[in-house]
This record gives sequence, structure tokens and C-alpha cells, in this order.
Amino acid sequence: MTRQRCRGGFLALVSQLSGSLSTMRDGGDVRRQATLGQGAAGRGWWRSGLAALVFPATCPGCGQVAEPVCERCAATLVAAPVAPPPFGVDAWVAAFAYQGVARELVARLKYRNARVALAWLSGAVAGAVAERDGFYGGSGIVTWVPTTPSRRRHRGFDHAELLARVTADCLELPVRGLLRRLPGPPQTGRDRSERRTGPRFTARLLPSPASVLLIDDVSTTGASLSAAAMTLRANGARYVRAATVARTPIQATANYCHGE
Ligand SMILES: [Zn+2]
Repeated sequence: MTRQRCRGGFLALVSQLSGSLSTMRDGGDVRRQATLGQGAAGRGWWRSGLAALVFPATCPGCGQVAEPVCERCAATLVAAPVAPPPFGVDAWVAAFAYQGVARELVARLKYRNARVALAWLSGAVAGAVAERDGFYGGSGIVTWVPTTPSRRRHRGFDHAELLARVTADCLELPVRGLLRRLPGPPQTGRDRSERRTGPRFTARLLPSPASVLLIDDVSTTGASLSAAAMTLRANGARYVRAATVARTPIQATANYCHGE
């Protein structure tokens, strides 16, 4: 069931974004990337499926019944703006600009535990990784930018972990929790200067030279990705690439220098 959901979500995304992902659709990698194992992230799918029968999912853009977004609203999604990788990150891809429907889909996953969006967003991240030349082959171990243990307990899940696990399954790459976030205020709600300092992490010692693909939902200032990447490097990672669902549009950030 999980495998079918990942494949369905991913291929539906490819179909909807036929322009930007046309090169992927023509290659055999799509079928390989669209597979999904029976990972821990998929264990809640049966609950989501049951809930969907009782409360049909609605499109965040127009409100009509659609899972997780209708084709017309999917067509309004904007490609991520070009931006240099944050300090400590070798390369960075993002699927969408953080606005409109993309913003709402991330919010549904992050705050409302909307697992229906998980396969779709993970497919988008996997697609962004596969689309960038030279990015996929050296990605190595997949991990995520974790939330604090207290917020994970409060929400009952870590949305970045869910994204990382399903993305890794789609890409058929190994996934491990390498980072631990130390207590501190959430990046959400902080102003830009506060965000630049970034959260603090500890990391497991990696077999050097390790290559890591770092997953997160949204990047605004780049501070979280940078802090996580530098912690991984201090613990044996030689290459750190990052992939996020969304990147904040440049025009919306007056002091933009890196993603967050
Ligand atoms: Zn819609």
C-alpha cells in the first residue's frame, strides 16, 4: 500500500509538473525513484486512508475534494528561486518557492500531521534531487534537520524526519537520524536577524569521508541548514548536500543571502 502511494503521488506530481520534470519522465530513473519500501514513516498510512474515507481531503488552493492538491492549483506552483547554498552546504535544491499552495501543503504536514501530503511533497523533493545533474549520485546517507525533542513529543512526529524517510525510499538511498537538535526557540516566528544565528545541533560520528543528503521542509535564511551541515562536517561528513520542499522567494526577503 505504501509503495503504491509513493508511486502514485510521485507519478501524479510528475504528470502535473510535466514541464519542469520532463527530463526525468523520459529517463528510467523515475520508476526506480518512485519505489517506496515499508519504512517507519509509512506505518501511519492506514490511519490516513481511513480518515480520508470519512473526511475527504480538500485542495489547499481552492477547497475542492482533491488529494493532496488539484491539478489546476498544482499548476500555480512556482519553481524555487535560484539561490546559493548556505555556508557549509555543497549544493542545495528546492522543489518550490515557499508561497501559495506550496506554503499551505507544508503547513498541513507540519502542523496538522496531514500525511496525505507526505508522499506528494517527498516525491517533489526526490524529483528536485534527481533533476539536478550530479546531485543524486553522490548523495550517500539521507538525514534530516530535526526539530527539538520537546516539539517532537508535543506534535507526536518530526515532519522533517517523515520527509527524509519517504524521500530516501523514493530515491532508494539509506536514511539515518544523524543529528540531534539542542533546546532553543523554533525558527518559525523569529525575525531574520535572530534566524541567522541558527539552531544548535549535535551529531553522530560518521565514517569519514561520508556524503550526506540533508532534508528539511522550508529554508528562509539558510541558518538551520548551515548549522546542521557544519555539525555534520565536524563529525566526519565530507560532502553535505541539502534538499528542501521549498525556498523563500528572494523578492520577499530584503536581506536575503542564503536559504534557511
Ligand atoms: Zn485546487
